[in-house]
Amino acid sequence: MRILDLFFPRQAKCIFCNKETSTLGICNDCYEHLPFIKDPTCDICGGTLVGKGSVCIECKNRTMTFDKCYCILEYRDEVRSKIIALKQNGKKHIAETFAYLIEDKVMPLLENIDIIIPVPIHEERVKERGFNQSEVLCNNLQSTGKVNKDICRRVKNTPHQTGLGRDNRESNLVGAFEITDKKVLKDKTILIVDDIYTTGSTLNEIAKTLYKCKAKKVIALCLARTPVNLNKVVD
Ligand SMILES: [Zn+2]
Ligand SMILES: [Zn+2]
Repeated sequence: MRILDLFFPRQAKCIFCNKETSTLGICNDCYEHLPFIKDPTCDICGGTLVGKGSVCIECKNRTMTFDKCYCILEYRDEVRSKIIALKQNGKKHIAETFAYLIEDKVMPLLENIDIIIPVPIHEERVKERGFNQSEVLCNNLQSTGKVNKDICRRVKNTPHQTGLGRDNRESNLVGAFEITDKKVLKDKTILIVDDIYTTGSTLNEIAKTLYKCKAKKVIALCLARTPVNLNKVVD
């Protein structure tokens, strides 16, 4: 793995087991045990695909605005607790480590992407946490010159979405995002980057906003995907 070959002196302890590691904040053992989402994956949300067809049970009866989402890890166990720690306890170094996984996923897709937008959070939320986790996840992509963190602003501070059903999430998000310079987006292929894919509602709303500004194609990448829930058939 390329990311493990690099030396990262600022973060010498593994974020999972706390062992000293000369790599990027994940030791080899923990890296090997990460719950990477494996093929086949859903053509729409990028989650693990169970059963027949090319889309998962959650995406089947739904229209998504974005073209396709890629997801890297299953949002469970240690991955889940680390993402919670990074968001609730302001552990920025965890996001800096995960940024290497984001970089690995984006680089092969890069030539087809014009603009990379980290999902914005409201400024009140930035004050609480000290940083926007999606921006930190894009840290290693800054050198591509394609990251634009100012083009999309979150103008509505929605309540925490945890525990809300899909319909409530979607109505909460209407008008939540604003574009600062619409002409920049015209005819562009845009990648939106977020930390967790739960229902896809946030990505949907941003994609809708970007298409209104005449974006050509909107794709997405999330660090982690909540496991596709087979018991909870949507619609
Ligand atoms: Zn470890
Ligand atoms: Zn799906």
